[in-house]
Parts: sequence; C-alpha cells; structure tokens
Amino acid sequence: MPEQHPGLAERLATVREGVSAACLDVSRDPEEVTLIVVTKFHPASLVAELAELGVRDVGENRHQEAQAKAAELAALDLHWHFIGQLQTKKARQAAQYARSIHSIDRERLVDALATAEVERPIDAFVQVNLTEDPGRGGAAPEDLERLAERVLETQTLRLRGIMAVAPLPEEEHAASAFARLAGYSERLRSLAPDAAAISAGMTHDYAEAIAAGATHLRIGSAITGKRPDPR
Ligand SMILES: *Cc1c(COP(=O)(O)O)cnc(C)c1O
Repeated sequence: MPEQHPGLAERLATVREGVSAACLDVSRDPEEVTLIVVTKFHPASLVAELAELGVRDVGENRHQEAQAKAAELAALDLHWHFIGQLQTKKARQAAQYARSIHSIDRERLVDALATAEVERPIDAFVQVNLTEDPGRGGAAPEDLERLAERVLETQTLRLRGIMAVAPLPEEEHAASAFARLAGYSERLRSLAPDAAAISAGMTHDYAEAIAAGATHLRIGSAITGKRPDPR
C-alpha cells in the first residue's frame, strides 16, 4: 500500500524511542507500557496505515467518529480505546466496538454500560479530575471509591485502573499532578488490587507520566501530526 500519510512511520518510530528512553530513565521496562495512538479527527486511512506499522491500540474521543472508523476497519481487529466524554445515551453503542473505556466518570454511565450487550467485559478506567474545574471531565477524587465500587459490581465491566488528563502547564506542572494521580491509583488498588493500570501521558507530558508510573499512554499529535479541523 502506498504511503498516504507522509512522515507517519518516522514519527511513530520517534515516539516509540522516546517512550523507551523515558522508561529507561526511571528504570522501568518499556514492555509494561501500552502506547495508544490517538487518531481522533484523522481518517480511517491513517488508522489503517498505523496498523500496517504494527499499532494495535488506537484511541478515539467522539462516539460517532469512533463508531464509523471501527466499522470501516473491523477486519483489522484493533483494540479501540474510548477516551473522551461519553454520553449516557451513547454508552451501549460505544460498548459494541470499544474494548476499553477510559472515561468512566459518573455512576449513571456505569449503570448504562451495565445493560450493554458485550461478548467480554470492557476494560474500564475510572477518570479522575486533576483540576478544580468540573468542566474538565473526570470524577472528583473524593468520589473515586464510590465509582470504583459501582464498576466492580458491574458484570459488563472489568476495572483496570485510573485515568487522568494533566492540568494545563500554566495551572500545575504535569509531574506534580501525576504524583497525585499515583496516590489515587494506590487508593484504587487498596480497594481492587488488580486495578493497577494508570492511563496518563499525552504528546507533551508522556515522560512525566512514565516517571509517575503510567501504564497506558494516549499519544496523538506527536505521531499523527497536526489534527485536521473537526468534521
Ligand atoms: C486528544 C487526546 C489525547 C492525545 O493528545 P495529544 O496531545 O495529541 O497527544 C490524549 N487523551 C485525551 C483524553 C485526548 O482527548
């Protein structure tokens, strides 16, 4: 297949090297870290090209777009990670293609997913808000345990861990925000020892996330290039 997205292979290689280097810096095994390539706003052809380059994990943040790409690329059997705010009324549909949902942020969403028809449980990450702004997405840290208990009671979900987006750099340095996230992860593990995953780290802060113990990186633009305008 001709390369339709110039530079993609090189950028992917650069990020993979960056991830390995950041792991080695803090004496972590790169094998412990899953790189999810965030392909939002990019066409299915870019996802197909990533698959040819060996990518299996892709992230999307809008239901309709994700649903369409997952349908178009069904034959590739990719692991689709849903990482954006999910409307309760779309939850059952997202459960049809998403193997992981990183944005479990309220009990009503868990209740909706509880009624989904799934072949196997969906990997669930409870999203916590690292800022004081409720509009940023994620549950308030004080709600973490209650939400996690609810996920644990739900047959269609398997609690994997915690997820967060760093505050803006001018609000707080990523390293200090991710240190707090590591503390929330410990709280979660004292409730559910298997829920040890930490989904954190994007283009500009993945090294800090790795240093704080992230197991799932969600990296978009460093690999895909600049995002086209949303359609
Ligand atoms: C877009 C997005 C990413 C990837 O962001 P980049 O800065 O392009 O790496 C990661 N996580 C979430 C929740 C996103 O919406």
